[in-house]
Amino acid sequence: MSGEPGEGEGDNRRREATDALDALTAEIAACRRCARLVEHRERIGEVKRASYAGWDYWARPVPGFGDPMAPLLALGLAPAAHGGNRTGRVFTGDASATFLIKAMHQAGLANQPVSDHREDGLEYAGVYVCAAVRCVPPGDRPTPEEQRTCLPYLAREMRLLPNLRVVLALGQIAFQAALRAITALGTAEDAGRRLRGKFRHGEVYRFGPGLPLVVACYHPSPRNTNTGRLSMEQLVETLAMAKGLSEGGVAAGNW
Ligand code: SF4
Repeated sequence: MSGEPGEGEGDNRRREATDALDALTAEIAACRRCARLVEHRERIGEVKRASYAGWDYWARPVPGFGDPMAPLLALGLAPAAHGGNRTGRVFTGDASATFLIKAMHQAGLANQPVSDHREDGLEYAGVYVCAAVRCVPPGDRPTPEEQRTCLPYLAREMRLLPNLRVVLALGQIAFQAALRAITALGTAEDAGRRLRGKFRHGEVYRFGPGLPLVVACYHPSPRNTNTGRLSMEQLVETLAMAKGLSEGGVAAGNW
């Protein structure tokens, strides 16, 4: 039954997914579970980088952002100190974002090639974007305990995305988080069987009917893009492959 007069089933599902994700977003943005990360994110927001001295830093957990009906979830590591932790939107305002969003645009997943601030007009189509850890960690290295503490948010987000078919894991930590979250989504038969896999850029991992595929991709951080480990061409190619699989492409054999 539709929620509003004239509203179709598709509109209804979109509205329900949007409302549920909005509620989770508000919960994540208020989280203070990891004392070390709370202290770190807030200190960065007070000290600031000189070039952003005029900014009122977000300095809170950075929730997911994107298309609530997306079949593809792009998963990063954590917000950057002066990127997401400043702007309040995942992959926004730092070098990794500049590289990734340009590639997303070329792959037909974003309406524009830039992601600078929350009011810049960026919209994703067919992809939802989030991070394995929602608060900026010192040195970009969350502890195993911090990764475990933040994981339930990812598993809940996956459950709330009604069309999810593929997770694009950007880097090793995102890859491991994806496997743990998909394990949590498994059926009773899967309980106790932890999904495992070794990260290999460009590889597709299948875990059985009803569970999303995982595509592994190097993280678009300067240490990968400036050293030639990940080129723009490789990233666009991997994004396009993940997009094709999420739309029911031929390699998605388990669906
Ligand atoms: S990293 Fe995750 S669990 Fe820890 S404080 Fe931030 S949002 Fe909460």
